[in-house]
Amino acid sequence: EIDERNKLEGVWRLFKLEVSVDKDPGKDFLGVSDALLEEIAKVLKFPVASMLPPEAFTVLRKSFDARKKEPKFVYAVNMDVSKLLSSEPRTLDFISDLEPKTGLIEHLTDQRDSGDFGDLISLVKNCKKNNETEGVGPRNHYGGSLVYPYARKPKVAVVGSGPSGLFASLVLAEFGADVSLIERGQPVERRGRDIGALVVRRMLQEDSNFCFGEGGAGTWSDGKLVTRIGKNSYSVTTVLKTLIHFGAPKNILVHGKPHLGTDRLVPLLRNFRQYLQELGVIVKFGTRLDDLLVEGAHVVGISVSDSIGNLESTSLKLGFDAVVIAVGHSARDTYQMLLSHNVDMVQKDFAVGLRVEHPQELINSIQYSELANEVQSGKGKVPVADYKVAAYVSGEYEDAPLSLGSTNRSCYSFCMCPGGQVVLTSTDPSELCINGMSFSRRSSRWANAALVVSVSSKDFDALNLHGPLAGVEFQREFERKAAIMGGGNFVVPVQTVTDFLNSKLPVKCIPSSSYRLGVKATSLHELYPPHITEALRHSILMFEKELPGFISNSALLHGVETRTSSPVRILRNSDTYESTSLKGLYPVGEGAGYAGGIVSAAVDGVYAGFSLAKSLGLYRGGI
Ligand code: FAD
Repeated sequence: EIDERNKLEGVWRLFKLEVSVDKDPGKDFLGVSDALLEEIAKVLKFPVASMLPPEAFTVLRKSFDARKKEPKFVYAVNMDVSKLLSSEPRTLDFISDLEPKTGLIEHLTDQRDSGDFGDLISLVKNCKKNNETEGVGPRNHYGGSLVYPYARKPKVAVVGSGPSGLFASLVLAEFGADVSLIERGQPVERRGRDIGALVVRRMLQEDSNFCFGEGGAGTWSDGKLVTRIGKNSYSVTTVLKTLIHFGAPKNILVHGKPHLGTDRLVPLLRNFRQYLQELGVIVKFGTRLDDLLVEGAHVVGISVSDSIGNLESTSLKLGFDAVVIAVGHSARDTYQMLLSHNVDMVQKDFAVGLRVEHPQELINSIQYSELANEVQSGKGKVPVADYKVAAYVSGEYEDAPLSLGSTNRSCYSFCMCPGGQVVLTSTDPSELCINGMSFSRRSSRWANAALVVSVSSKDFDALNLHGPLAGVEFQREFERKAAIMGGGNFVVPVQTVTDFLNSKLPVKCIPSSSYRLGVKATSLHELYPPHITEALRHSILMFEKELPGFISNSALLHGVETRTSSPVRILRNSDTYESTSLKGLYPVGEGAGYAGGIVSAAVDGVYAGFSLAKSLGLYRGGI
């Protein structure tokens, strides 16, 4: 009996606990309801659910699964055995034979898996404490070769204030580096006004827009915090806890598909900035990195200029010990500049396509059937419906250039924004590209998502585009074409899904769109090369099987979605995060090809920050 009791200790995780919609208190309730306790009791084979003390259980994740005939809330829960026993010692008599079962019950052996740790700020503070006991002081070698005189703090420039740059700055500043955060765009307050001027008066500021400015590309976005890099992982949870520290709601830790919305991101970023400034970080907005100062094969500083368009402004040369490049994937001028220094860069596969928009009501009814009434513009019991579809299209396309041969492509929906709107993400007035955003309530009448097809070097070759930046030129080609098809002034070319499938000439009467700068009915099926259009068509037909009603006259395709992820990878050493060709240069985040979304970019920034702090001799341990 004693052995059995020893087996039941620590923290256990129970997965896939399903509670029906009628029994569940609803999407906003994240505690342990009676209905959930009943499901827990079933898994534990415990006879009386009401005897289980709710305080022994913490909801780790709550998702809504509409795929089943009867949609359900699905939970993952942590069970703390000590709390279970202190409240009700008799429970042990019933559940002492608990066995880990794959996918249903797991014993958490690593304390970090239980999520019982703090945010990034406390993590670095802890590391610093350990440093002190291990005797790491400001007298270390730098990059393994240069001896640092360290009469001063090491100076680091972090270029770009997107998630990767912000998190890298936070780590470095916490470790005591002298950080300057260089951002070509404007702080969120002024950026909001610039975006307003774009949406209302068609005035595009080339350095302050939906892609550039404080918080990076994800600020005026849906703020989805889902990631493919392991949502329960230590690094992801640390990033989410840090966002909570700066004002995100605590429920992002629990919701299966957490999202913030633009309205929550803006104040959060202001708090983040204020904290960095209190740490001593110098934040320079409206300041664009134009060039690197290189001596030997070592970066020794940067050349920057005022990006507000002041003609009299001259470029400024600033010395730094290390430069973190966190510029995102729309900084095409920066890629070009890096290439001019022969920085190691290679082409990277990405995806291009169109953004489809449906009435949100239609998506609700496709996904939820009768339950659709429960949605009530985000206020109801179940979340506003979303979708995620993917298909693999293979085959030879008659019209494809010979160089493409037979091509297998992934086609998928991407960055779906329920209750959102289509927005302009161009950074140059001669190009047109779009994306989606939403506010936290997700209460607009529309649902939009990118429908994209993977492209690779074969596609670039087919257009005679070569070299590391071939993918960038490929994007540009179709962004320019879209601008022409729209007729200028940021008007977006559109076509109904049914007309796109049938290659029909545009009709005058098109469904309304959430896009604010106007849409024009065009032959979007002629925009991409036929093999890409064909792949998109195949995939739409496959998506219809999964989501009956997806093909509809009220579904409108918008062109073009080209900046799904970076078309380039800037090569770096996997341990030190330093460029493989230029010492002192640290490429991070999405633009460097190591992330694809807000959370993964932030995580990359964290790891890069720790690695650089180590190289600078500010830190000795691991993460
Ligand atoms: P970025 O966020 O792109 O930041 C780069 C920063 O560098 C920018 O602020 C830019 O102004 C600055 N910069 C560039 N060049 C220079 C230079 N030469 N000098 C100085 N500064 C420079 N992801 C999600 O996970 N969820 C979503 O819901 C989501 N929605 C999105 C909606 C939209 C409209 C867009 C555009 C993107 C969305 N994304 C979303 C993608 C997400 O925003 C990016 O993956 C993420 O921001 C990448 O972070 P990053 O730090 O690598 O780069």
